[in-house]
Amino acid sequence: MYSLRCNQCGEGFLSSYNLEAPICGRCLQKAKSLDSTVEHEKHCVSCGNTGVIYGKDYCYSCYFNFGKKK
Ligand SMILES: [Zn+2]
Ligand SMILES: [Zn+2]
Repeated sequence: MYSLRCNQCGEGFLSSYNLEAPICGRCLQKAKSLDSTVEHEKHCVSCGNTGVIYGKDYCYSCYFNFGKKK
């Protein structure tokens, strides 16, 4: 088991795979509900992380934060 940290919400979780872009189950559900795929070769224009929402220039993390009020 690998101890990973979700690159979306920052929460720690365990996975049997050493994921390059770890994402916890909760965020995965959120991502799936968006009905989008991730372009792993693109970089987020906001945070520079790899993996952006298909057709967008932002990763899930940044994209979701845009919709939130601080
Ligand atoms: Zn997460
Ligand atoms: Zn980002």
